[in-house]
Amino acid sequence: MIDPIPTNLLIFILFIFGATFGSFFNVVIYRLPKDKSIVFPSSHCYRCKKPIKYLDNIPIFSFLYLGGKCRNCNATYSIRYLFVEVLTAVMTVSLYLVYGLNVNFFMYLLLVYLLIPITFIDIDYFIIPNEFILIGLLILSIGLPLNFLPIEWIEGVYGALVFAGFLFFIGIIGQFILKKESIGFGDVKLGLILGGYLGVKLSILALYMSFAISAVIVFILLGSNLIDRKAKIPFGPYLAGGTLLALLTTLPNGNNVIINWYIKTMF
Ligand SMILES: [Zn+2]
Repeated sequence: MIDPIPTNLLIFILFIFGATFGSFFNVVIYRLPKDKSIVFPSSHCYRCKKPIKYLDNIPIFSFLYLGGKCRNCNATYSIRYLFVEVLTAVMTVSLYLVYGLNVNFFMYLLLVYLLIPITFIDIDYFIIPNEFILIGLLILSIGLPLNFLPIEWIEGVYGALVFAGFLFFIGIIGQFILKKESIGFGDVKLGLILGGYLGVKLSILALYMSFAISAVIVFILLGSNLIDRKAKIPFGPYLAGGTLLALLTTLPNGNNVIINWYIKTMF
């Protein structure tokens, strides 16, 4: 029998694996909304257009080594490139630490790898491209019936209806009261996928967390005059944040740390 891979080595491998995907997501975030090919041409500097050499394109390391600058023309790259790579790497390792290396881990990894580009494209363009929604629905339509998730498939269907239905309902009320779009149809479609992954109980937790996080962040942004009252606020990032929080606080036996704490404190 082959010895299992030592945990530390596995964490290291997963970190590099995640960082590499993060590097790819930077390309997706930059090119997909502009309808550019995400495969050709290979990475090049946005200013001098010179192709970035293989050794200058190593996730995380190259950004730090070159100080976030182009080797050729010294153009500065946004710190967000580094952030997306680190975030993807850390999320990959976190999912492994919570779920271990199994089919649930891979299903959740696919979700996270959809949510990261969705989040940053929504921040930049206030859209959630249908490509991501379709991929998510495809993953669920295979994964749920085959029991790749720790919930019954019907629980996923109910979760999708609850999550998307609630966002649809809030969107209509928001439209009526604020006279502007608060929750878009893209968010409702994303809700189908998130709810399908979470089931009913965790959907309610994730929705609650999404609204709580968005309230705190919008309050801070308004208070520090970074945005004004008329500012358009993308909701996709909060839905992604609330969902990941719900997933990462759920133990493999299905108990959720936050829900348990809440029940203990309240009753
Ligand atoms: Zn350059």
